Amino acid sequence: MRVLAYVGLGANLGNAAATVRWAMGQLQWLPGTSRVEYSSLYRSDPVEASGPDFINAVAAIHTCLTAPGLLCELQHLEQLAGRERPYHHAPRTLDLDLLLYGDGRIDSADLTVPHPRLYRRAFVLLPLAEIAPQLVASWQLQAVRSQPVSLFEE
Ligand code: AMP
Repeated sequence: MRVLAYVGLGANLGNAAATVRWAMGQLQWLPGTSRVEYSSLYRSDPVEASGPDFINAVAAIHTCLTAPGLLCELQHLEQLAGRERPYHHAPRTLDLDLLLYGDGRIDSADLTVPHPRLYRRAFVLLPLAEIAPQLVASWQLQAVRSQPVSLFEE
């Protein structure tokens, strides 16, 4: 069974834009997975994290992977990008979050879907609304409008 899943991407170390673009390209090569759509890149202040500005994006994929299987693949891509976890909220070369997995609801020790902070973060909601406007209500965008997020332009 193929499921439409949404993945949030973020990076704030090294060449963050290049890392996010690389990761978006890698998603379609995951087992049983094909790309549906990628958002533009956005720039945001670090929220609950430290270091330089973040580059963020959201990707929609079709996948036959289970949600835990997809999380495992996302964590592998984080490792390939050289991510270390020296402390909670440390700057990161790549952060991949499973935002939505079809209409699945998961609450296990390792995985919560929908992602618990999805609706609290402008840097997730704006790119998600760009590629899936039906999933984000205008009042939800209003609720995060004080958080500075802009389109990333090189
Ligand atoms: P982070 O520091 O944001 O990369 O958090 C990673 C941790 O969050 C991992 O231990 C995951 O098991 C856990 N986690 C729980 N739900 C999710 C989700 N929906 N997407 C990504 N990581 C998740």
